[in-house]
Formats: sequence, structure tokens, C-alpha cells
Amino acid sequence: MKLSDVIGQDVSVNILRKTFINGRYSQAYLFTGPEGVGKRLTALAFAQILNCREPSMDFDGKTIDACDECDSCRKIRDSNHPDVEIITVEEKRKDIRLEQIHELQKRIALKSMEGRKKVYIIDDANRLNRESSNCLLKTLEEPNEDVVIILVARNLYGILPTVRSRCQILKFKAIPQDKIKEILIENHDMDDDKASFIAELSQGRLGVAEQYAGEEVEHVLELSRRIAANALRQKRRKEYPDYEKIFKFTEEICRDKGDVLNLLNCLTVSLRRFFIKNPTNDLHKKIETVLNTQNLIMRNVNMRTAINDMMIKLETPH
Ligand SMILES: [Zn+2]
Repeated sequence: MKLSDVIGQDVSVNILRKTFINGRYSQAYLFTGPEGVGKRLTALAFAQILNCREPSMDFDGKTIDACDECDSCRKIRDSNHPDVEIITVEEKRKDIRLEQIHELQKRIALKSMEGRKKVYIIDDANRLNRESSNCLLKTLEEPNEDVVIILVARNLYGILPTVRSRCQILKFKAIPQDKIKEILIENHDMDDDKASFIAELSQGRLGVAEQYAGEEVEHVLELSRRIAANALRQKRRKEYPDYEKIFKFTEEICRDKGDVLNLLNCLTVSLRRFFIKNPTNDLHKKIETVLNTQNLIMRNVNMRTAINDMMIKLETPH
């Protein structure tokens, strides 16, 4: 992944490229913005350009991008470059531990092994706890020419102000839906309708759109359309819900929380699409019902009860 392959983040990419060309890059960056818009990929692309052995040049002989093919670029891409490292929350931990930052400091003190620059990407930096943040601050206060540190965080204000003020901040934005749709059609050979559905679902996060483009969620997409269509049909027919069918459905879908949340996202988009064509109070209530259910599940209420209640509400004519 080269800088020029990063999609929809031209402002940030251009700033990075310019600072590289001018040789005036910061020792620390903070990339902020929603999940799935390319912050981590950009950090790796920047690590590549900083260490590339055969970078591409413009007509004036200035480096404009990494080659993505040399030994160094390949190692970074395969996550085995000795001088480029991603530090993140360890499995089963809630935050980035102080010991991890201590380790980082030890490695910063060593000479780089094969790269020109040592690059440390602190992913999910919102999960640096106070101790780790304060420890990291010491590193940021003692600039080291051979080192670039990139903090990647969803929320700018979740970073300690003293740390924030030591970093050059680059804001990453949600990608326009049309752009995402275009990419889905091009890269996944997707039909127009499905691509625009997933683009809407992803809310400007290409990473999320790519996940939905995978086949594993195909059944969830289909299911959400069926539930939405069924909810509308019940309303027209004034039929009452088939409780037994609902309980059975709940049992099936509730095996996996990820599936349930995916389903609720898809369902919201499906209902919203009906709403745009035909805005009724009933549909508005149904969308609210799904959003409420989503909130409840995120707050860890009993998933089965929440889904049962939602299905009954969706299928009950008002
Ligand atoms: Zn290269």
C-alpha cells in the first residue's frame, strides 16, 4: 500500500508527502478520525516512503512515493520489518500497558537495524492509560532524529493534551458514499444496488465496506432485506406476528453477537431505504426500534430478549 493508493484522504496524504519532500517531518504524528477510513494504512504507507530503497521520483528528482516492491517495502507490508512496529492493546487487555511503552523506549534507544527511520505506530492510542501516556510523553519530549512515532486514534480528545500538543495532527475524514460505491463496483464486481446498499451501510468507512463486501455477510444482507420487507407486509395485511417463528429466528441469529450487530446495521439501512421512498410514521417507529435495540445490545443487555422484543415490534401492525 503506497501513499498514492490511500483512498479519499488526499489532504492528509499530501501533507505527509510534502513534509517528506521538504525533509521537515515531525517526530510525532497523531492521525485521528473514524474507524475504517485508512489511518493505519496511511501510517504504514508513510513508514514505507521513509524507508523505501527505490522510491518513485517526479520530474525534478523528488521522491513522491514508495515503490511497494523493494525489500524494505515488502517487509513493512508483511509486518516483519525490524524497524517498523505496531504497538497496540494486547489480547484480553483493556489498555496499552506501561510496560509496552517501556519496551518501546528501549528499542528507540537502539540503532536502527536496516531502515533509515524507525517507525513506531501506536494503534488505538485512545487506549493508552494515564501512566502509559505520561511515559510516552517523556519520549516525545526528547526528539530523536532516527525515529518517527505515529499515534492512531479515533478520538482526538481522548488523547492526553500534553501528548496531543507534541504531535502534528492529521484529521482523517469519512469517505463520500459515492466514492465507496465506485470502489465496490470496481474491486468486487458488485452490482449497482448492492454497492450502494453497502456504501450507505459503511457510513464513509471503506474498511467497513470491504468487510461487508466479503461473502460471509451475504446472508445477513439478504436476511435484513427479508425482515424489512416482511415488516412492511405485515403492516399492510394487518396480521399479527407469528411468535413461534420469531423465537426460532432469534435462537438462530443470536449465536454470534457480531452477526446480530451486522444484521441490525443492515436492517436500519433496509428500512431507511423504504422510508426514503415512502416516509410513514410506522416506518419511522420501526427504524427507531432497531436503533434502540442496537443501543441495548451494545450496553450488554440480554441479546435474545432484545431481539425478540424488536422482532415482535417490527411485525406488529400499528
Ligand atoms: Zn520500496
